[in-house]
Amino acid sequence: MSGRVAPAKRPRIEPRKRPPEERIRDFLAVSLELTAEEAQSEAARCIKCKNPACEQACPLNNRIRDWLVLTAEGRFLEAAECSRQTSNMPEICGRICPQDRLCEGACVLGIKYEPVAIGAIEWFINEYAFRQLGGIPCPEVAPATGERVAIVGAGPAGLACAEELVKRGYQVTVFEAWPFPGGLLIYGIPGFKLEKWVVERRIAYLRALGVEFVCGTRIGEHVTLDDLFAQGYSAIFLGTGATVPKRPKIEGIELKGIHDALPFLIRNNVEPRFLPSGDWRRDDLTGKTVVVLGGGDTAMDSLRTARRLGAARVICAYRRDEENMPGSRREVKAAKEEGVEFLWLTNPIRFIGDENGWVRKVECIRMELGEPDEEGRRKPIPIPGSNFELEADMVIIAFGFDPSPVSLEDPRLKRTPWGTYEVDADKMTSWPGVFAGGDVVRGADLLATALRDGRDAAAGIDRYLRARSR
Ligand SMILES: Cc1cc2nc3c(=O)[nH]c(=O)nc-3n(C[C@H](O)[C@H](O)[C@H](O)COP(=O)(O)OP(=O)(O)OC[C@H]3O[C@@H](n4cnc5c(N)ncnc54)[C@H](O)[C@@H]3O)c2cc1C
Repeated sequence: MSGRVAPAKRPRIEPRKRPPEERIRDFLAVSLELTAEEAQSEAARCIKCKNPACEQACPLNNRIRDWLVLTAEGRFLEAAECSRQTSNMPEICGRICPQDRLCEGACVLGIKYEPVAIGAIEWFINEYAFRQLGGIPCPEVAPATGERVAIVGAGPAGLACAEELVKRGYQVTVFEAWPFPGGLLIYGIPGFKLEKWVVERRIAYLRALGVEFVCGTRIGEHVTLDDLFAQGYSAIFLGTGATVPKRPKIEGIELKGIHDALPFLIRNNVEPRFLPSGDWRRDDLTGKTVVVLGGGDTAMDSLRTARRLGAARVICAYRRDEENMPGSRREVKAAKEEGVEFLWLTNPIRFIGDENGWVRKVECIRMELGEPDEEGRRKPIPIPGSNFELEADMVIIAFGFDPSPVSLEDPRLKRTPWGTYEVDADKMTSWPGVFAGGDVVRGADLLATALRDGRDAAAGIDRYLRARSR
């Protein structure tokens, strides 16, 4: 019988996951790669739309339909080659992009059936290709232009920009404050979503391609942008991200035991070999109650990290409902499977401490959803008199991030009221020759949008330098 069912109507093949009781004991990847048979069968569900909505919803406009067709035909190497043409990190996008909000969310099949598991297939074809080819294949590089470009920040935006410029014949140096390149892919996103070796492999490939890295150097402190131009760089790209934590102005916020999410994630998820010298001891949360405030990816990662550190109860308090939360559905599902409790429509209004200054409780208020705001999301409104208290041994604040500009004040670099850099269509800032992209321009966003900006900025830099040398 099942042989007669049209492929599109077949249930979607999801990557298998390790059982929750096993995975909360380590920081290794939760999801497992599809097999060749699974990838081929799942790709065959694609109905080959004439104007694929999945491609329009992808920030990189990946040629998804083309590589799904190739995968369905078992032509995995060609499929991977096709995916590499528009993305600088397809094997990473396949693993961590919130596909439910991007390509898979737009998949027409999802209206009546289930969307094609695009991310899992992207992950499979690329890993298959790397296994067959013995690593990430190096593309052709144009003859040297003789010009040097400096990239500040080795996150996805900076790395994509660096790769695209090297391919165009530029000599590229990437300056990074941390000891290792990767940005939030190393210093933020936990191993259970993205194991670090996957990022290390990308960095090794970029080095082999000719990108030079200068790590442990924060530009703007000892070396300024003027110094970089004086050293002979013809253009600069700023991909410095958005990692300044937003802190709520709530009574008791200064209590001990209240932590910002990113430092918590770094000290508990990043292996010592990636860290500068210092005290980076992991938290022991055995038997503790941890309350995480926020509903985005950072909150989900913090909740799941706290579970892995032995916390007895891990509670997420978020001011909107599940429907309106920003985090990827896949991560919320994984967190629930791992025993995380969710309190929707709940907002903190006060932290209550003990006589030694340690946080003990979070006073919260229940919310209801009002009219949609300018972004179309329904605005949470407090319900008077609905206050209640939550016990907590540790509180983690995951309310998002402000941009991390290279220097706080420089009149040559115009910023928006939100602190992000203003850029033109070529990603050039108000300072000629200085370009910017990724989270420092968009505000905290996504891997795929950062890659897109890096690629667009490389094209912009190329146009700028060619026009100048004419
Ligand atoms: C916890 C967490 C989980 C996330 N999960 C996901 C997810 O599942 N899927 C997804 O798509 N996105 C996710 N994101 C978002 C994604 O990681 C970011 O949007 C993306 O990394 C932005 O890339 P970027 O290159 O702009 O900045 P970053 O990745 O932040 O990189 C910026 C780099 O610049 C360096 N830098 C900053 N200032 C200087 C300076 N002055 N000199 C030298 N170097 C400097 C920083 O050290 C850093 O390495 C997550 C973010 C967080 C915080």
